[in-house]
Amino acid sequence: MNNLSLTAAKAALMNCPRCDLLSKYKHSQPIKHAVCPRCGAAVHLRKPNSINRTWALIIAAAIFYIPANIFPITFVTSLGKVQSDTIISGVIYFINTGMWPIALVIFTASIVVPLLKLLVLSFLLVSIQRKSSWRPGDRTHLFRITEAVGRWSMVDIYALTIVVALLKLGFFATVEAGPAAVYFAAVVVITMLAAKVFDPRLTWDAMESENE
Ligand SMILES: [Zn+2]
Repeated sequence: MNNLSLTAAKAALMNCPRCDLLSKYKHSQPIKHAVCPRCGAAVHLRKPNSINRTWALIIAAAIFYIPANIFPITFVTSLGKVQSDTIISGVIYFINTGMWPIALVIFTASIVVPLLKLLVLSFLLVSIQRKSSWRPGDRTHLFRITEAVGRWSMVDIYALTIVVALLKLGFFATVEAGPAAVYFAAVVVITMLAAKVFDPRLTWDAMESENE
């Protein structure tokens, strides 16, 4: 075996997800129930069932993405008049009134980024399942970006709601979140979970089995 491609998993080394201690698997305990010798957290060579779990969460997020865009995301009441907006109708409103930068921010944050994250995770999973050796460094980097973007996604919906209300109808309007807000939040949270259960080390494992 080529030592350069030897992974920690092959050397029976497990990284603790809680305290980051690298420990060697002790054969006295079943590998499924291995625990960190320092903090007692469950440790695994790879995140368990990572590919299936990530797929399940991607599919769930993709399903919620549909009502998130079809239903109204805001109900704005001003002077007794109620107006509902979907994400798209909000974007169109800002384009029509010449507020391009705001339209662009909402379009990017609420439509493009959530979709892009799901597509990137799907692409990474497919490439692992096909045991691809195509630019593993770049694919890992792509995952890190996806993971980092997730942390900011929750800001979108609040920013959107507040901006729409303030710019459209002034400070005296009351704003209520529409049903799409719940679905949109679900998309964001489920996508974050998908990134969490995804194990980027699988990218390199697939290559290693090819080298043998
Ligand atoms: Zn630990």
